Amino acid sequence: MDFSHPPHVSEIAHRVRRFVDEEVIPLEDFKSSGSISDAALRNLRQKAKAAGLWAPQLPPDLGGMGLSLSEIVPVFEAAGRSHLGPLALNCAAPDEGNMHLLQLFTNGQQRERYLKPLAAGEIHSAFAMTEPAPGAGSDPTMLLTRAERDGEDWIINGHKWFTSGGEGAGFYLIMARTDSDLPAHKGSTIFIAPAGMPGIEVVRNVPIMGFDDFGGHCEMKFHDLRLPASAVLGEVGQGFALTQARLGPARLTHCMRWTGIAQRALEIATQYAAERDAFGKHLNEHQAVQWMLADSALELHAGRLMMQQAAWLLEQGQHAREESSMCKVHAAETVNRVLDRAIQICGGKGISRDLPLSSWYEAARAFRIYDGASEVHRMVIARGVIKRHSAG
Ligand SMILES: Cc1cc2nc3c(=O)[nH]c(=O)nc-3n(C[C@H](O)[C@H](O)[C@H](O)COP(=O)(O)OP(=O)(O)OC[C@H]3O[C@@H](n4cnc5c(N)ncnc54)[C@H](O)[C@@H]3O)c2cc1C
Repeated sequence: MDFSHPPHVSEIAHRVRRFVDEEVIPLEDFKSSGSISDAALRNLRQKAKAAGLWAPQLPPDLGGMGLSLSEIVPVFEAAGRSHLGPLALNCAAPDEGNMHLLQLFTNGQQRERYLKPLAAGEIHSAFAMTEPAPGAGSDPTMLLTRAERDGEDWIINGHKWFTSGGEGAGFYLIMARTDSDLPAHKGSTIFIAPAGMPGIEVVRNVPIMGFDDFGGHCEMKFHDLRLPASAVLGEVGQGFALTQARLGPARLTHCMRWTGIAQRALEIATQYAAERDAFGKHLNEHQAVQWMLADSALELHAGRLMMQQAAWLLEQGQHAREESSMCKVHAAETVNRVLDRAIQICGGKGISRDLPLSSWYEAARAFRIYDGASEVHRMVIARGVIKRHSAG
């Protein structure tokens, strides 16, 4: 078993890290919204393209670097050392997951109209699945948004929220029920709706804890939104299958990016502990501090191995549902613990906005909820455990 990355992958990860250190981190501003202006992002993206670091996950014919899922593990971690890094390289959520979905399922016309400008960073996108109660949340089969046929067209009505990137998106991927007689997982469809169509209402950018994410997390309503048959992504009734194809790898890429932030938090804490004294010695000479550093390092190490293995399984064509769920639970909870420990080690400074830790700590809390709450992933893992036990 060879655990080393191919030399070209290590070299790219190294270059991404240097780019993030030199070009991205200086733009971080945790004393205000933590976000970045459109103009600054455009400028940063031009620099990433000029440095040959654009879209590591996309194939060259879409302008990307052509790395496989297992190859992007260290590269996305390097980009994720700043929450602005993935945006700069066009590998941030939700666009990165949406591009993957479109790559798999668009027809020629949809590829030209939506995927190519998204891959080029000319527009951003949003995926509208979650609904306020009593609609789809942890249980997506509770989907209430409806699409009904009207001649060749579809008419969509529904209420969504937490549509990330919803503000200013170039298009929306909308999950809707297309056949109420079938179970939801067979009777749902994803539609692509260009922004600005009559019937699309961005109600508000839902205020959340943590910094302002690019494009926000929006509450949306669709009122008699009329879309042609060509707006269907894949085939009618395939919505859940398509979503699974999107979410498997997208869960892993979330873990990769968040590992970057957690690793940087560990480094910040390690630096502070090396410089700060208490009770006649450096903090890093106190065993309680050493154990916090050690626990963070070992949990991050385990997470990297889990991601690498799950990515490998997905590349072999396996669903890796349990392994992806294990990664998601482990990474989400590790990141929260690593940030918590880093703040503890940095004391008052850790709470201040002089360091990024407190902003990341607020933002990381959502990681245990989006793309499946930890409890839901544990449910998936436990189902496998119980099934194998019953099978003897
Ligand atoms: C920052 C952020 C960005 C998001 N971006 C998007 C997006 O772009 N597109 C999109 O469609 N959605 C998005 N979401 C929504 C996200 O996917 C949902 O919040 C998540 O799936 C949980 O659904 P819910 O909020 O409706 O929670 P609910 O379904 O109401 O569940 C609430 C809680 O119940 C518990 N629970 C649920 N099921 C079980 C179970 N089986 N066993 C034990 N406990 C359980 C969990 O603790 C869960 O947190 C985003 C959410 C956040 C916070």
